This record gives sequence, structure tokens and C-alpha cells, in this order.
Amino acid sequence: MQTQMLINGQLQAGQSDVLPIYNPASGEVLVKIAEASPEQVAAAVTAAARAFSGWSILTPKDRATVLLKIADRVEQHAEALARLESQNCGKPYSAALNDEMPAIADVFRFFAGATRCLNGSAAAEYLPGHTSMIRRDPVGVIASIAPWNYPLMMAAWKMAPALAAGNCLVLKPSEITPLSALHFFEIIADIVPAGVINIVFGRGASVGQPLVSSPEVRMLSLTGSIATGQKMLEEAARSLKRTHLELGGKAPVIIFDDADIASAVEGIRTFGYYNAGQDCTAACRIYVQDKAYENFVADLTSAVSSIRCGSQDEEGVEMGPLVSQAHHQRVAEFIDRCRTQSHLEITTGGQKVEGNGYFYQPTVVAGATQNDEIVRKEVFGPVVSVSRFSDIDQAIRDANDSDYGLASSVWTADIGKAMRVSAELQYGCTWVNTHFMLCSEMPHGGTKQSGYGKDMSMYGLEDYTTIRHVMIKH
Ligand code: NAD
Repeated sequence: MQTQMLINGQLQAGQSDVLPIYNPASGEVLVKIAEASPEQVAAAVTAAARAFSGWSILTPKDRATVLLKIADRVEQHAEALARLESQNCGKPYSAALNDEMPAIADVFRFFAGATRCLNGSAAAEYLPGHTSMIRRDPVGVIASIAPWNYPLMMAAWKMAPALAAGNCLVLKPSEITPLSALHFFEIIADIVPAGVINIVFGRGASVGQPLVSSPEVRMLSLTGSIATGQKMLEEAARSLKRTHLELGGKAPVIIFDDADIASAVEGIRTFGYYNAGQDCTAACRIYVQDKAYENFVADLTSAVSSIRCGSQDEEGVEMGPLVSQAHHQRVAEFIDRCRTQSHLEITTGGQKVEGNGYFYQPTVVAGATQNDEIVRKEVFGPVVSVSRFSDIDQAIRDANDSDYGLASSVWTADIGKAMRVSAELQYGCTWVNTHFMLCSEMPHGGTKQSGYGKDMSMYGLEDYTTIRHVMIKH
């Protein structure tokens, strides 16, 4: 198992505290890895800063060539990468292999093309005798901080646009799930010039903090919790670094009486519990119109109770464990607090699964009202709340009444209703009659406390560039 970091083109072991990395399906330690020392973090940043002068002046075509080779390597090593991802996160191997690896390869291919197609204002004589042009140049060294839910995919969403735009970077994966990223850096080390891309392993406080506070780092790109986003902003306030924040979510799902209810039930069964609900866009906060409500709750309860939970390679497994013991406990406590509220009904699930792994039963909490914690806070587990609404105005009001603003969906047979709700929802994405579908060409990112900045799409590429004006007097 590859446990070394890549710093300035060299694989090297960490020189600081040693941390255990677990298999969440069994609770066993997979491997122990040493964190980067402060000197190693500094060396990674310096390497990126040195490499910038060469990488940033390559033609887009030459950078694209490297990104395309990275995509090929991901495909060549897809099975090994997916194996590590599923061992380390507990997720089904088939999901890591068939859903995540193709998406990772695709995002590198998308940005390889995108960097050759940047748009901008026309060069022209906006003052007599002066020609103006716009440049979109790279920002510099980026500190990319990734979470544990889709470790390599989230890292790829950060690395691909940053590299395509001509930046150099230091990636810090989550200290809980570093294995796929460490392996990825080993398999691409010979394709990318030394220092352009570096990885340091360790916790937020011991490794992340020195990384983001390094003066040579010009931009902080985080996918993580709101609390960590606030820490990034505190650092940015001190040093005026640019920030790109993809934070938590609590996606509302509005289901009207006229929707195809069977398809909505199937959609929530899939998109509420995918990755054990550890997904910032998870369909977790359901609002169902009065007439459909009772049948919907009954059908969803029955559908969710059929979700097949198990470890990575079990035949037909649909849902794995939660990522860590601490997170397992956190999710269980949310449901324990629901039990103390008499208007809430746990119609299925609601218990830890016996054993050493961190499994939690897929759970439905019905009868939820707007001020309930289960409606307002991100659980990040296999838990869906269901609330009732009577008219379109109430549905829009309740859905928008949230600190979060990442993803949402509306289910109806009436296209006019779908268009009105989509226009009025305050979320980075609204799906109609589906949920959770992503593609590299379209932006992913939030509003409100879900952060700002876009992953994927041309907007994502622009986020990693700085706009400059060059004016020539003649
Ligand atoms: P987290 O905020 O605890 O950790 C994210 C990363 O930040 C980790 O690598 C962690 O080590 C690092 N970190 C923590 N403190 C730091 C510091 N002071 N300096 C530098 N780095 C620091 O989040 P998590 O628990 O790993 O991930 C779950 C969260 O991520 C959820 O809230 C989820 O909604 C969010 N998420 C959002 C998106 C999105 O696209 N918006 C995608 C996936 C996950």
C-alpha cells in the first residue's frame, strides 16, 4: 500500500505523528501513515511556487496533453484506485469502480479541453490610440483541501481545473481517507513536472493549517464543512488569499401531488442513501404535498427497508458503513434526539447495526416540521426526513428556509410549476423529476452557507484564473 507523499516529484514518508487508517466496514486498521512535518509542508509549497514559472507558461495545448495522460492513468489503474477507495471509505467496490473512477477520468478530460477554449471580452480600442485586451492568468500556488466522502473524486474536482488553468498545487486529502490520493500521486508522478502537484498527509490542525497560512499560497480551495470554511476565511482575512468554498448541504426535495410518486420514491431510495447519505447533495429533506403524503411515507418506508447494507464486496450490496466511529456515533445521536420528540415517527431504521463496522440502518423520519433539528442540520448519514406541505408557496418558503444552499429538486408533472419552483429556489442546483445527477460540463456549487465557487464546468476553470487587463498605447 502506497503511504508516501509526493513532494517536488519525490515520494517521501511523513516525518511527524503516525495516524491509523481504518476500514470502516470492520473497524480494523488498514495501515498507519506518518503525517507531514511542518518542514515537509513548507517544502511542498516551495516546490509548487518554483514549478509555477514553468507550468504557467506552457501552452494550453501542452497542459491539456498532461491532463489527458492523467485521465488515461486513472483508467489504467481504476481497479486499484477503486479498491483503495472502497477499503478506506467502506463504500461498495462496484460503486467506486463504476461511478467514481469514470467521473474522475472525465473531469481531467473535460478540463483538458476547456483550457483551450477560454472566453473573454474582445480586444479593442476602448480609448483612442490604445488597445486593450483581457488575460485570464493562473492565480499561483493553490492549497487544495479535500473531504472524506468521495476522496479522489473531490480531489480531482479541485486538481483538474487548477492545473488546467496553469496553477501549481499542494493537495491535502482528509486524514481519514488518504489512500486513493496517495496512490494517484504515485501513478502520475512521471507525467507531471516535479513540483507542479504535491500531496501532504495529515490532520487539519497539524498539516492543513500550516499549509493554508503559508505566504506563498495564493488561493485556498476547500470542500468540507462550514466550520472548516470559516477557518479558511479567517486565514484569508489575515492574508487576503482567494477562497473557493464547497461546504455542506441539506437538499430540499419538493414532491407535488401530481408527481409520479413511484418514481419519486425510487429516486429518494437511490439519491437519499447513496454513499450511505454521506453526500452534500443527498436528497435528505423531503416535502410532500398533502394528498400524496400518507402513501408516499408508506411506500418510501417499504422501499428504504429493502436497501441492502453490507461490506465492500458483498453480493448486491447497495450501502456501506459510515466513514468513522465518531461519525457513526454522531449520526446515531441525531436519531436518538428525534426519538425524544413525540411528533416524529421513525418509520424504518433508526439503529446502529451490531458488529465492529460503523453501519447504520437506512432511516426514514416522518412527520418532521420546519424547526426540527432533523430538518435544519446536516446529518450526512442514511437519514431522510419527510414533512408535509399544502401549497406551492409554502413548499418554496420551507425549502428556502435553510442556512444551506447547495442542491434541491422538484417532482411534478406540471412543467409550469417546475419552472416556477426552479426559479424561486435559492440553491446552486435544482433538478426536476430527478436528483443528484452531475456532469463535468455543468457547475456544481452552492449559495448561502454552502459556500461559493464552482466545481466542474467553464465556471470552475474561470474560478482558478485571475482576470488581467493589458493596455497598449500606440
Ligand atoms: P471537514 O471540514 O471536517 O474536513 C475537510 C478537510 O478540511 C479535511 O481534509 C480536513 O483535514 C481539513 N481541515 C480541517 N480543519 C482544517 C484547517 N484548520 N486548516 C486546513 N484544513 C483543515 O469536512 P469532512 O468531514 O471531511 O467532509 C464532510 C463535509 O464536507 C460535509 O459538511 C459535506 O457537506 C462537505 N462536502 C461538501 C461538498 C460540496 O461540493 N459542497 C462535497 C463533499 C463534501
